[in-house]
Amino acid sequence: SIPLSFFAGIGGASNAGVLVKGSNYLETLSQTKTVVFDKTGTLTQGVFEVNGIHHHEMENEKLVEYAALAESASSHPISKSLQRAYGREIDRSRVTDVQEISGSGVIAKVDGVEVAAGNDKLMDRLGVPYIPCHSVGTIIHMAVGGKYAGHIVISDVVKPHAREAVQALRSAGVHRTVMLTGDAKPVADQVAQSLGIDQVYAELLPAGKVEKVEELLLDNSERGKLAFVGDGINDAPVLSRADIGIAMGAMGSDAAIEAADVVLMDDDPAKIAKAIRISRKCLRIVY
Ligand code: ADP
Ligand code: MG
Repeated sequence: SIPLSFFAGIGGASNAGVLVKGSNYLETLSQTKTVVFDKTGTLTQGVFEVNGIHHHEMENEKLVEYAALAESASSHPISKSLQRAYGREIDRSRVTDVQEISGSGVIAKVDGVEVAAGNDKLMDRLGVPYIPCHSVGTIIHMAVGGKYAGHIVISDVVKPHAREAVQALRSAGVHRTVMLTGDAKPVADQVAQSLGIDQVYAELLPAGKVEKVEELLLDNSERGKLAFVGDGINDAPVLSRADIGIAMGAMGSDAAIEAADVVLMDDDPAKIAKAIRISRKCLRIVY
């Protein structure tokens, strides 16, 4: 039978805005020594601003319009941001044949013309030669009708208390913090450094994130449990693979909430250290 204090622990956590799906997860949480974060929407707000537009074949406005329309069926933070940058109502009837390529971008027909918006990997996949861009930011390359049309540079900001959240983990006994992202290395390094994260792996596809977590799990065997924290956009498989999956509940996807063992109701990464403390306290009462 489940000791009564486990219920108290789950209740205490839920008062703090942390939903724990079962008492066994409190035990795992209390042994967490490695915390692996996804970047976009987890450590950063997932609200991108447009910093630059470099058109090649068409006007800037047309480029943004194509991007917003092609992205209109996706719920990725980048898609939402490009639709906001467009700022006009989107006529979905102009958009057909939508393909979302996880960790790369989208391809769709806009007014019957094929439009692709995404990273280098997406352009390589389509065999479209692109002009490399060295701006620091997330680069959205665009191909229209099979030809390179330019790129849009966007950037995101870290969540207000993300740095304190990472520091608080250290005081809660977490030995190692890691960030995984599908985004480019310069952006990833900048975010990880500003937050004081120990290790960072960039340019990973969703399957690459799973592989990385598996590597870290092997390496972690003597050092306690591994938690993965994500928003579920392109990372639901990793949430299930970790010893404990922690999802952002407010902005995160339904898939994340389903795949996770613990849900942070207000998307605040500072709640992770809090949840670990609550779990330790509750375990001390039990044993
Ligand atoms: P993260 O690992 O930071 O959470 P994702 O795995 O969701 O990021 O995406 C990785 C990269 O793939 C993005 O930085 C972007 O370059 C590209 N990408 C993903 N989804 C889209 C999209 N809907 N539109 C354009 N680019 C995208
Ligand atoms: Mg993500």
